Amino acid sequence: MVKAMEPLVIPRKEHRISRKQMSPNAVRTLYRLHSNGFIAYLVGGCVRDMLLGRKPKDFDIATDARPGQIKRLFRNCRLIGRRFRLAHLHFQDEILEVCTFRRSAVPSDTRDDGDAPETDQKPRRPWHLTNEDGMILVDNIFGTPEEDALRRDFTINALAYNIADFSVIDFSTGLQDLQQGLIRLIGDPQVRFTEDPVRMLRAVRFAASHKFVIETATWEKLCDLSSTISRANPARLYEEIQKLFLLGSSRPAFSLLRQSGLLAGLFPWLDRWLDNNLARATFLETRLDSLDPLRGSPDQPSLAFFLAALFGPSIEELALDLHRTGIPHHQALDQTFADFMKETCETVSVPGKIGIRLRAILGLQASLKRMPKRRPAVIANRPEFLEALAYLRLSSETHSEYRASADWWSSFITNSPPRDSEEQAEEQTASKTRRKRRRKYRRRPKGTA
Ligand code: ATP
Ligand code: MG
Repeated sequence: MVKAMEPLVIPRKEHRISRKQMSPNAVRTLYRLHSNGFIAYLVGGCVRDMLLGRKPKDFDIATDARPGQIKRLFRNCRLIGRRFRLAHLHFQDEILEVCTFRRSAVPSDTRDDGDAPETDQKPRRPWHLTNEDGMILVDNIFGTPEEDALRRDFTINALAYNIADFSVIDFSTGLQDLQQGLIRLIGDPQVRFTEDPVRMLRAVRFAASHKFVIETATWEKLCDLSSTISRANPARLYEEIQKLFLLGSSRPAFSLLRQSGLLAGLFPWLDRWLDNNLARATFLETRLDSLDPLRGSPDQPSLAFFLAALFGPSIEELALDLHRTGIPHHQALDQTFADFMKETCETVSVPGKIGIRLRAILGLQASLKRMPKRRPAVIANRPEFLEALAYLRLSSETHSEYRASADWWSSFITNSPPRDSEEQAEEQTASKTRRKRRRKYRRRPKGTA
C-alpha cells in the first residue's frame, strides 16, 4: 500500500477552479451529499482538467456515503458494477458516477468489505482478489479520502475538489506534477503496473493528449513491463485503444506505444510488419498526423478508419503477396484479413462490426483504383464509399499514382452525389419484395394455374 503524506489543501482563492466550469448536476449532487452530512469531492480527471483550464469529459464524485446511502438519497440512482460497487445518477443529459471512497488492500487485510450492513446474511463476495501475478481482479474495500486518492493511477489524477470549502486537496504530488507536465505513477511502478497493466496505456494516453512527459521511473518500468499488456482484459484494451486513437493525438500516442514496446504486446501483427523499419514507422506516423487535426470536425474519422489507416498497408501488402501465388485478389484479402482479426482479437477485442467496416474500406480500394471506372453509381452508393474514398486520398498522399482516381471520384460524387441511406433502404426493400415475388412464382408446382 502507498504511504500517505500530509495532504496539501489549496484554498479557493489560490486555485482557478470555479463552480461555473462544472456541470450543474454535479454541483447539485455535491451539495446534496454535503448537506446530508457526507464528505463530497469531485475527483479524478475533471479536477486535473479544470486546473489546466480544459473542459472535463465527465465529472466523478467520491464520498464517504455507502452505496446504499447514496441510493436512498437520490431517486435517479442505480447501483452498478461487480468489480467496483458504484452509483450511477441518471440525469436527462448525463450520467454521474458517485463512488464511495475505496482503498487498495494488502494480502493480510481483514477489514470491512463495506457491504456488511446490507449483506449480513448472505455469503460475502470477496472484497479483494488478485491473481497469482498480482493483477487485481476484485477491489472493493472502503477507505478514507486519502486512501482513495492513493489507490488512483497517477498523481495528477489523485487531486480532489472539496465542496465544503471549495478547496483543492492534493494527497500526493499532483499539483507539482501538473505544473511540470509529468505523468507519475503513485507508489511503486512495478506493483502498480502489475496490479493493472491498462495503466501503461493510460500513461501513454495522458502523455499524448496533454503533451506531458512520462516521469523517468514510471517510463522505465513501463518499458520493462510492456509485454505484460497482453494479460489485460481484451475488452478493456479495446476501450482504451478507442480513446487513444480518437483523442486527436494519435500520432504521439503511436510513437510512445512503439518506443515503449506496448505496440508489440498489443498488436504483434503490426510490430512484425514494422520490423524496426524506421521508414515504415514514419510512414504510419505521417498518416496519423494528417488525421489528428480532423478531431471534432464534421470529417472526424471513425475508429474503423483509424484502424484502416494504421493496419491497411500491412494487410494490403500481405494480401498482395498471397495474390501473387495465384489466389484471386478478393480471396487473398479475405484470408489475410481473417488472419489479422484472429490474431488481433486475442489481445484487443475489436468488435465484429468494426472489423466488417474496416474490411469494406480496404475491399473497395481495388474498385476505386480501377480505370476505366465500372458501375460508378453502384460503388458510390455503398455505405462505406466515403470512408473508402478518404482512405484512397490518404494513400495518394504517399502514392501519387492514386491521385487521379481520388480526384475522379471526388468530381463524380460532386456531380451525382450518393443517395441518402433512407432512399437506399427503400430501394433495398423494393428489390427484396421483387425477388420474393419471383421466387414464389418459380416455386409454384407444374400444372397449377
Ligand atoms: P478522461 O479525461 O479520459 O475521462 P480520467 O482521468 O477522468 O480521464 P477515467 O477513466 O474517467 O479517466 O477515470 C477517472 C479516475 O479514476 C482517474 O482520474 C483515476 O483517478 C481513476 N482511475 C481510472 N482508471 C484507473 C486505473 N486503471 N487505476 C487506478 N485508478 C484509475
Ligand atoms: Mg474521466
